[in-house]
Amino acid sequence: MSLINGEDYKKRIEALTSTVWYDGEKITGNIGEHPAFRGAVQSQAALYDLQTDPALKDTMTTIENGELFGTSYLIPKTKADLTKRREMVQKWACHTGGLMGRSPDYMNTVLASFVASQSVFQNEENCFPDTLERFYMKAREKDLSFTHTFINPQNNRSKLAFLEKDHQNARIIKKTDDGIIIRGAKLLATQGGITDELLVYSAPGAQEKEQAYAFSVPTDTRGLTFVCRSSLTNDNSRFNSPLSSRFEEMDAIVLFDNVCVPWDRVFFYENIRAANNLYVKGMFVPFTLHQIVSRQVIKAELILGIALKIVDEINIGEYQHVQSKIAEMVKGTEMLKALLHHSEQTASKNEDGVMVPARLPLYTAINQFQDLYPRFTEIIQLLGASGLITLPTERDFHSEIGTDLSGYLKTCESSGEEKVALFRLAWDLTMSGFGTRQTLYERFFFGDPIRLQQTIYHTFDNEGPITLADQFLQRKS
Ligand SMILES: Cc1cc2nc3c(=O)[nH]c(=O)nc-3n(C[C@H](O)[C@H](O)[C@H](O)COP(=O)(O)OP(=O)(O)OC[C@H]3O[C@@H](n4cnc5c(N)ncnc54)[C@H](O)[C@@H]3O)c2cc1C
Repeated sequence: MSLINGEDYKKRIEALTSTVWYDGEKITGNIGEHPAFRGAVQSQAALYDLQTDPALKDTMTTIENGELFGTSYLIPKTKADLTKRREMVQKWACHTGGLMGRSPDYMNTVLASFVASQSVFQNEENCFPDTLERFYMKAREKDLSFTHTFINPQNNRSKLAFLEKDHQNARIIKKTDDGIIIRGAKLLATQGGITDELLVYSAPGAQEKEQAYAFSVPTDTRGLTFVCRSSLTNDNSRFNSPLSSRFEEMDAIVLFDNVCVPWDRVFFYENIRAANNLYVKGMFVPFTLHQIVSRQVIKAELILGIALKIVDEINIGEYQHVQSKIAEMVKGTEMLKALLHHSEQTASKNEDGVMVPARLPLYTAINQFQDLYPRFTEIIQLLGASGLITLPTERDFHSEIGTDLSGYLKTCESSGEEKVALFRLAWDLTMSGFGTRQTLYERFFFGDPIRLQQTIYHTFDNEGPITLADQFLQRKS
């Protein structure tokens, strides 16, 4: 089986015997039917159905050496491959509005990026590039779904925290003939508990060899526990909660209680240089950012579209400040698109023949989006005003007061019920628990904005601008 559809995915999730805690109880039975997970599992299944839609096969699937697989696993060798990857990501993102950060393409891209980082692991101690490649081929062939965890618990973020030995970070406590034994915690895994596999690797800047590793384990591995936050799905009504009823992905703390990772799943261990080079020299950053920015473009377009519909709905397009706010959103969206295309156009082949999108435009795009996205949500609030709070429910509209309500809330464009449907969409995107988590997600999921800025500062190629400034300083005429 090289491509799964939605039904295959749901069956695999149903068969999992993972340890997932929700609100003081261990989830038993089919996790895909649990109210906190149902929406995400159904949406994820719909994505796999798109992957097997014959009309989309040229975009969603790839054939390499006679083998068919999902394009999300493709390691690009040409610029055309990069374009195809973008189109695949955006096809899925159009279905979710870019609201599922862990749609399968994200993690499949991460795994592909690890394999494309062979030079980081070659001739390095305790690194197993062949194991990694075999694992990738198996994942690609079975079309496995993944989540990941790499950030350590937020106990002490000072610069000298590494001196503290008594911490709870997941670390190697033993090596045996069977594999490495992991004990401790990792910060969180989005979609933890509803994927086949959990990919685990070191946080950036690992300083202890016990915390320098990368491996993957099945989600229902013994000793592995996921502890969920409260669900942000308000209810299952598509009218009341148009987004959270579908796309609430859940985030979970991950606990490792003497988890044994078999050697054929260990990609490297106790190698600080490899752990850090994965981020600095490997393909993780450019590949993953290319997927992320492709998704964020669609999310920006969705939120712009909702803003435009609000403007029309309550007829405020004549005001200059409204036009200026919409223009601000258009400029932000266009800038993201331009940076994404720029990263593809200036992509270059590395020594392994992999086509690598340029990092700087992608770093710039994600760092900009960390500011743009909260501003876009603010603009929705500034335009929507009380409409974002006058939100009767589906049951109100279908009760004996429904007709009156629909009449009182009507606009020149629509019935009250139609107007509320639009404003509920805007509310769920920007104000509900689901919506505010989306904002936190875009601010932080790929690292905090400050450290991303520092990375840009330390890694951009400053030679061109300095040379130009020098030429002007030396000019006599
Ligand atoms: C919704 C959501 C989903 C996520 N999903 C996943 C996931 O699936 N898997 C996963 O592994 N992770 C996930 N993350 C975690 C994400 O990677 C981290 O939030 C991010 O890397 C920032 O780390 P932190 O949250 O520990 O913040 P911290 O590092 O604790 O930062 C807190 C504050 O301190 C400041 N600060 C801390 N250290 C420094 C420093 N050295 N220099 C300057 N300022 C500093 C930060 O700027 C920030 O203001 C998710 C996060 C969110 C919010």
